[in-house]
Amino acid sequence: MPTRKYRRTSDKGQPTHFECAKQKCKWMGTYDQKAYKPRGNGFTDHVCPECGNLEFYGLTEEYVKSKKL
Ligand SMILES: [Zn+2]
Repeated sequence: MPTRKYRRTSDKGQPTHFECAKQKCKWMGTYDQKAYKPRGNGFTDHVCPECGNLEFYGLTEEYVKSKKL
């Protein structure tokens, strides 16, 4: 059975690893490895350190283990 790559939104808890949602980028990393971008109103956005994209997919633990991330 192939390893499921992405978590469903119904999965419990927060994913530990993420992949950039941009097809051409595919950056992967942990929450801590995301870049921070201040919004100017006291909030910060988590953005992809490679392309600045705001959207990420949560990766399953199985996938992270299979890739030894
Ligand atoms: Zn990216």
